[in-house]
Amino acid sequence: MIEVKNIYKTFYVPHEVQALSNVSHTVDKGQVVVVIGPSGSGKSTFLRCLNRLEYADSGHIFIDGIDILSPKTNINKIREEVGMVFQSFNLFPHKTVLENLTIAQTVVRKRTKKEAGEVAMELLKKVGIHDKAGVYPTQLSGGQQQRVAIARSLAMEPKVLLFDEPTSALDPEMVGEVLDVMKTVAKEGMTMVVVTHEMGFAREVADEVVFMDQGMLIEKGSPEHFFTNPESDRTKAFLSQIL
Ligand code: ATP
Ligand code: MG
Repeated sequence: MIEVKNIYKTFYVPHEVQALSNVSHTVDKGQVVVVIGPSGSGKSTFLRCLNRLEYADSGHIFIDGIDILSPKTNINKIREEVGMVFQSFNLFPHKTVLENLTIAQTVVRKRTKKEAGEVAMELLKKVGIHDKAGVYPTQLSGGQQQRVAIARSLAMEPKVLLFDEPTSALDPEMVGEVLDVMKTVAKEGMTMVVVTHEMGFAREVADEVVFMDQGMLIEKGSPEHFFTNPESDRTKAFLSQIL
C-alpha cells in the first residue's frame, strides 16, 4: 500500500538540517505502523512526505501504486487518498461539526448534501458525538474536536490515514477516548501510520513499530520485539527514557 524507498529531505532555513536521510519503509494494506523517536528525529517530516505536505528531495514514494513524487501526479488526488489527523485538530472554526464533515465530501467526492449528511451522521455516531452535529468546534472539548477530525478524515474514505501525535495536545483524561476511536478504525482495517508517544497504543494496536533518530530509520519490528528485545543502543536509550 505504501512503499517508501530511500527518501531524503533537507531543510535549509533557518539552518541546514537533514530531516530525513535514506528512509525506506513498506506499509501493507490494513497495517498499523507506529513511528516513535525523540523530538526532531524526523517523524513529522516522514509523515508529511507521505501526503506531499513536504516534498522529498529524492527517493520514491508509491501509495497504492501511485508515484506521489512524480510531477505528473495531481496533488489533490494524493490528498484525497491519504488523510491526515494533526495534533492541533485543524477543524474549520466557522463551520459546524456537521459542515466540517460534509464540505469535502460534497466538493471533492461530489456527493449530494443529503448523502454527505448521512455519511457524516453515521461517522459522528461511530466516534460518539452525533449529538454535537450542530455546534461549532470551540464548543467542544479537545477530545471531542479530535474525534470530529478523525470522523472528517474517514468521511473521505481514504486509503491511508496518517496521525501526527493526535493526543499530544489533549488533557490526560481525554487521551483514552481518542485512542479508543483510533483502535476501532484500526480494527476495521484502515491502513494507518501513527506518530505517537502512547506506548500502550503501540503495544496493543501496532503491527509494526518504527524507531527514528536524527532523520534515520534506526530499527523496525513487532511491538514484542521493541518492548522486550530492542537491538540498537539508540532504541534502548530512547525507550528507557519514556517507559
Ligand atoms: P517532534 O517530536 O518534536 O514533533 P519530529 O520527530 O516530528 O519532532 P520533525 O518535525 O520531522 O521532527 O523535524 C526534523 C528536523 O527537521 C528538525 O530538526 C526540525 O527542526 C527540522 N524541520 C522540520 N520541519 C521544518 C521546516 N518546515 N523548516 C525547517 N526545518 C524543519
Ligand atoms: Mg513532529
